[in-house]
Amino acid sequence: MYKEKLEKLYTKDKETFFNDLNNMLIKEEKKIIVTANPETLKYSTTDNIINKLLNDKNTISVADGIGVVKAAKILKIDVKERIAGIDIANELLELGNKLKKSIYFFGAKNEVMDDLLKVVKEKYPNIKVVGAQNGYVKDRDKVMNEIIKKEPDIVLVALGIPEQEKLIYKYLDKFKKGIFVGVGGSFDVISGHKKRAPKIFIKLNLEWLYRIVTEPSRLKRFYKNNIKFILEIKKEKKKQKK
Ligand code: UDP
Repeated sequence: MYKEKLEKLYTKDKETFFNDLNNMLIKEEKKIIVTANPETLKYSTTDNIINKLLNDKNTISVADGIGVVKAAKILKIDVKERIAGIDIANELLELGNKLKKSIYFFGAKNEVMDDLLKVVKEKYPNIKVVGAQNGYVKDRDKVMNEIIKKEPDIVLVALGIPEQEKLIYKYLDKFKKGIFVGVGGSFDVISGHKKRAPKIFIKLNLEWLYRIVTEPSRLKRFYKNNIKFILEIKKEKKKQKK
């Protein structure tokens, strides 16, 4: 069930992945990076679009979350490490700055977007911001059509799972090039509105715990998507043995 999706995950380490991103940008490739967490994988079993997206040739899925890395290991798939959406967003800003590429930001609250643009201007002066739109507009399709016209090299969409991925996928055919990523809450963090977990939590693979403690409303979502997910993976493993 999950095995075929987990087998499609990017298996190498983060540094190699970042190097690949660099090359994709130089070659002006068209790719969607899906930061797959248990929630994304669960959606792929009920949502046909997410399922198609994960099987698409333009998609690269990386394991965002220790739950996915563990699940892969249980099913004997060697995924080196977690690559978080926020790390990808930061790296694309670095690379975009270095390579003088263009970028479009779509998502998050208005005040978050304002501060994000300030940070980008200061920290990444060579990146060309071709457009920015907060994530609380009524007509998301209109924004996507706007992005198509601008032909950016990098498109970061922060609208939450799975809407961000579905929206990108809906319009992917219309783009000739671009690295597209659904980055969840990354704009909140990069803009300074939200704090990421302290490094020690990240190192010990406990970032999920930090998020639950600081945002208790996430607990139900965590149980539904993570605990149940690992139980399902274990069941799948048992079936394989039979
Ligand atoms: N968001 C948005 N429009 C919406 C709903 C959410 O722009 O209609 C933004 C929200 O402000 C936040 C991001 O989407 O910046 C989702 O963040 P979250 O941490 O929930 O992401 P996830 O856990 O889904 O990766």
